[in-house]
Amino acid sequence: MMIKPDAVENGHIGNILEKVTTAGFKIKALKMTQLTQRDAELFYAVHKERPFFGELVAFMTRGPILAAYLEKENAVSDFRTLIGATNPAEAAEGTLRKLYATSMGENALHGSDSDENAAIEAAFHFAERECF
Ligand code: GDP
Repeated sequence: MMIKPDAVENGHIGNILEKVTTAGFKIKALKMTQLTQRDAELFYAVHKERPFFGELVAFMTRGPILAAYLEKENAVSDFRTLIGATNPAEAAEGTLRKLYATSMGENALHGSDSDENAAIEAAFHFAERECF
């Protein structure tokens, strides 16, 4: 997962981590960092033909993010349920995007969409010695 620049700027790191761990996710690795242009272009390469790609890269690089590597049974689908729909206007009550996101683009959190991508994204953010 990542706590995106908007949620970091708005001071939501502590509240989000509290809700994530209360929901049963174990933190295996944690890091505050800032993505470079190249990092963001690589991370979101699947969206490079989309009209919002430039906006997405500019947003994701404008300030620090908090990356976390989480562990749980059914982590991918449970985390996506916890954060809610991409567009906060459509996110269910009580979800993290409903609580903390401001728009479709600035939507506070990233969650991996498959176990395979979760492993790739964990390796993107963390060295093996940073994972516990
Ligand atoms: P996710 O899996 O729920 O994060 O959603 P997607 O994989 O579809 O999109 C990745 C990210 O791109 C989203 O979380 C948003 O930050 C961003 N995004 C998606 N659609 C739009 C859009 O229409 N406009 C903008 N500015 N950003 C978007």
